Amino acid sequence: MKLIIFGPPGSGKGTYSSRLKERFNLEKISTGDIFREEVKKGSELGKKVEEYLKKGELVPDDIVIEVVKERIKNCERFILDGFPRTLKQAKALDKMVKIDAIIKINAHSEILIEKISGRRICSNPKCDGNYNIADIHKTIDGIEYILPPLLPKEDMKCDKCGSPLIQRDDDKPEVIKERLRIYEEQSKPVLEYYKRKRKNKIPFIEVWMNRPPEQVVEKIIEGLKNLGLVR
Ligand code: AMP
Repeated sequence: MKLIIFGPPGSGKGTYSSRLKERFNLEKISTGDIFREEVKKGSELGKKVEEYLKKGELVPDDIVIEVVKERIKNCERFILDGFPRTLKQAKALDKMVKIDAIIKINAHSEILIEKISGRRICSNPKCDGNYNIADIHKTIDGIEYILPPLLPKEDMKCDKCGSPLIQRDDDKPEVIKERLRIYEEQSKPVLEYYKRKRKNKIPFIEVWMNRPPEQVVEKIIEGLKNLGLVR
């Protein structure tokens, strides 16, 4: 099974793909994660992409395509996260493999902004404590959102290590809006390309991020079942 997952920042895409990975024994291939790791290692590739990552700019297509080509070689089961991001990447991927389905996560910007603004992380760099103070009960354009908060037991202290919770710099509203704008701008032409495709059309599984992750993942699985990709 070969999948692509598309979703705006804050849509829980990372969580869904991790769960799908566990459940269906898929390799999760996130180009963002790969690049961050290479930068940390200080590898040749890391040095090449470091500046782009720092500025939040796209890494040149040729580099990204080569990395993905190498990673999916001989890989029968995977979920791609963060790739393709440009038309050139989408067309290159077409030449490499046949993708079975595109999972597209939908959410209204207003909800994403509220959700990302509510994110709190543990201030201890060695801890991965992750919480959310946003409590969302709202209906927009007929979509009912029920997204309860994920609070620590003690007020603003990490359950795992007791350190104070903080907000990430890029989780502030001005930065979120910019990240959402960039996502829209980048993903639109790629999604259009897949939707317009006539030959070898790839089916879409569209789900709304309007419930906690376990329920959204169930909906994705339902979509995979309907396509006969899983039982
Ligand atoms: P992400 O974690 O997916 O937001 O990716 C982090 C950064 O890695 C992006 O801001 C880009 O600099 C780079 N990157 C990740 N995936 C791609 C891609 N498919 N094409 C170009 N650059 C990418």
